[in-house]
Amino acid sequence: MIVQKFGGTSVGSAGPIARLAEIVRAHRDRSPVVVVSAVGGVTNKLFALANQALAGSDTRAEFAALAAQHQTILKELGLPEATIARELGELERLVSGIGLIRELTPRTMDQLASFGERLSVRIVAAHLTQSGTPARAFEAHEVGLVTDGRFGGARPLPESEAAIRAALEGVRECPVITGYIGRDKQGNITTLGRGGSDYSAAIFGAALGAQEIQIWTDVDGVMSADPRIVPQARQVPMLSFAEAAELAFFGAKVLHPATMVPAIEKNIPIRVLNSFRPEHPGTGVVARLSEDQRALKSITSKDRIAVVSIVAAPMLNQYGFLERIADVFARHEIVVDMIATSEVSVALTTDASAKLEPVVEELSRFSEARVLRELAMISIVGEELQSSLRVPARVFARLEALKVRVEMISYGATRNNLCFLVPRERLREVVLELHRELFEA
Ligand code: ASP
Ligand code: MG
Repeated sequence: MIVQKFGGTSVGSAGPIARLAEIVRAHRDRSPVVVVSAVGGVTNKLFALANQALAGSDTRAEFAALAAQHQTILKELGLPEATIARELGELERLVSGIGLIRELTPRTMDQLASFGERLSVRIVAAHLTQSGTPARAFEAHEVGLVTDGRFGGARPLPESEAAIRAALEGVRECPVITGYIGRDKQGNITTLGRGGSDYSAAIFGAALGAQEIQIWTDVDGVMSADPRIVPQARQVPMLSFAEAAELAFFGAKVLHPATMVPAIEKNIPIRVLNSFRPEHPGTGVVARLSEDQRALKSITSKDRIAVVSIVAAPMLNQYGFLERIADVFARHEIVVDMIATSEVSVALTTDASAKLEPVVEELSRFSEARVLRELAMISIVGEELQSSLRVPARVFARLEALKVRVEMISYGATRNNLCFLVPRERLREVVLELHRELFEA
């Protein structure tokens, strides 16, 4: 069997959903299990709705627009409005509840955010059934997914694996399962974090021992750079798990970073495909590359980062300094992307959205800590970096010629990845130049 995950644009309106049904049908001899995201843009709208309700604003117009967006899709597919009546009713009550009590806990936010996927599975399953592929909608918890209780960033509990297998064993119809959401042991709805449907697909694929996990999106797979910055970016035919993980962590939007974890554990290949061009082979992600596939793959960047710079009174003899820093970040559950150290200082990068005030306050008890936000991170990924200095030599020669200030160079421990920071205002120019130098020559 295979898992086929369809992202927001692939279920964004009636046309794409009809195409989804064709894609599922084309693979029917491989017994697809379908995982879907919310209709494109809906999760953002749910977050906006929540905040509006919290602020006490009138949300009726926004709720009506969201309902109409889904009803339009149903109508265009020739499906009855009743398909999603229950979910819409529940959503409306929840939003008015938030408006009444003017309180929005992470738990309530996850419950609200879950409606995107809970609505889309109903529509997709109804359309599949109507178009000749008998299907059944499931919320992930109904088919065995149990998570911890970290709202907004939940992780599956180990018992999910056997439960998923048992739950889906007797299902004859094509299962259409919510991405992004789960439930904890108490039955509270949780979410796996934004973009988490890819991760859901990998969790189900690993539990079921799938032959392949297909991630259907709206581009031809992974690109050698963000096409919005580099119009000449090329499609990448093949990545290793390690390369894909680096790319996902360092800013490529195509795959959620956690996706590779279950796939690596069970050695299940992933394929990123374009639902608007299903005949394109997309990008394969596999455990091991052949010699000629171990090339340079992609250049990614993140401009929403924060750098925490920490200076200690001479670090000399202060064994345990790094450990104390790591401990502060770990306790505040801040994910660190990159780290550079010297005798007296440590610099770390995190996502710009990380809540750093309490971290800086704690660090200030034993060091001088501050947050810089004017830098951007560039990351060059490919297993070629393991075998030669061609890439770093050319990168730094170009940067020198461009007179770009470079900070925090990291030539990753596995050397799949060359990473550094440049001033934010020069990011686009540098990415364009380095792409030309490394991929277009
Ligand atoms: N709908 C969720 C989001 O927008 C999950 C996903 O699309 O992967 O973040
Ligand atoms: Mg996504």
